[in-house]
Amino acid sequence: MAHCNLCPAACGADRRTGTGACGGGAKARVAKYGLHPYEEPCLSAGGGAGTVFFSGCALRCVFCQNYTLSHGNAGREVSARGLCEIFEALEGMGAANIELVTASHYLVQLLEAFRLRRPKLPVVYNTHAYETLPALRALDRYVDVWLPDLKFYAPSVSARYTGKADYFARAYPAVAFMAKREAEFDGERMVRGCIVRHLVLPLNSGDSVEIVKRFADLRSGAYLSLMGQYTPCGDIAAFPELSRPITRREYERVLRCALGLGIERLFAQKLSSANKAFIPDFSEDRPLF
Ligand code: SF4
Repeated sequence: MAHCNLCPAACGADRRTGTGACGGGAKARVAKYGLHPYEEPCLSAGGGAGTVFFSGCALRCVFCQNYTLSHGNAGREVSARGLCEIFEALEGMGAANIELVTASHYLVQLLEAFRLRRPKLPVVYNTHAYETLPALRALDRYVDVWLPDLKFYAPSVSARYTGKADYFARAYPAVAFMAKREAEFDGERMVRGCIVRHLVLPLNSGDSVEIVKRFADLRSGAYLSLMGQYTPCGDIAAFPELSRPITRREYERVLRCALGLGIERLFAQKLSSANKAFIPDFSEDRPLF
């Protein structure tokens, strides 16, 4: 916490007294928690995924659909005990799991909470994958389902949308680590495993094809979730290509590549999911959906 290097950005912030480039300080910040019915079916099985949305982000894509959280740091500080109470509340709501959304910059606080009270439901770790291997190893015994996003392949693409040319070089080893987790189900619900997500972006299907090829190279038992839900959001005025949803042709190019490579553990999305109705409502005093 005195010289933070939790993520590959290694900004060196003193988080005991201030915040890092991700917005993370001494205590975890949570923007909202509740039941999420629109994750992959095996994660939202039954009552819905028990999502906890953390504030701040180490990656900060310009098109983030949770921009007020990731860039604006909206939310409130929560102690380790408070995190345990949130997990307990989600268990009481009938959640399928405890899904931690973009929590990697709060590793220290998460470990403290897990040591106080380990959740009774499978823990799902939803991450942008801009992670270090030591951080993932520290979490390994507490996480049941890894849910990384493998976002960009070309350094020029990740630099354009996040300022981080080293994204793939950092994220790929992290995803390779997470993809080793064997899948286990309890009925329709995934209780252990790894789902690697990829969001297809407008005018970037060539980059997406490279991601799918690299995923296939892993030859793991992980599932691939190809997301077509891109909806213009965030601070994209300087990125005219991001001002529209993806086309059917763009999505099908990537899907064809996955099928052609023999990837059978695959989630595909209807393009009608590119709708702001499926983005959580982060305003105060409203449920997630
Ligand atoms: S987690 Fe945040 S504070 Fe720590 S190195 Fe990364 S950006 Fe900096």
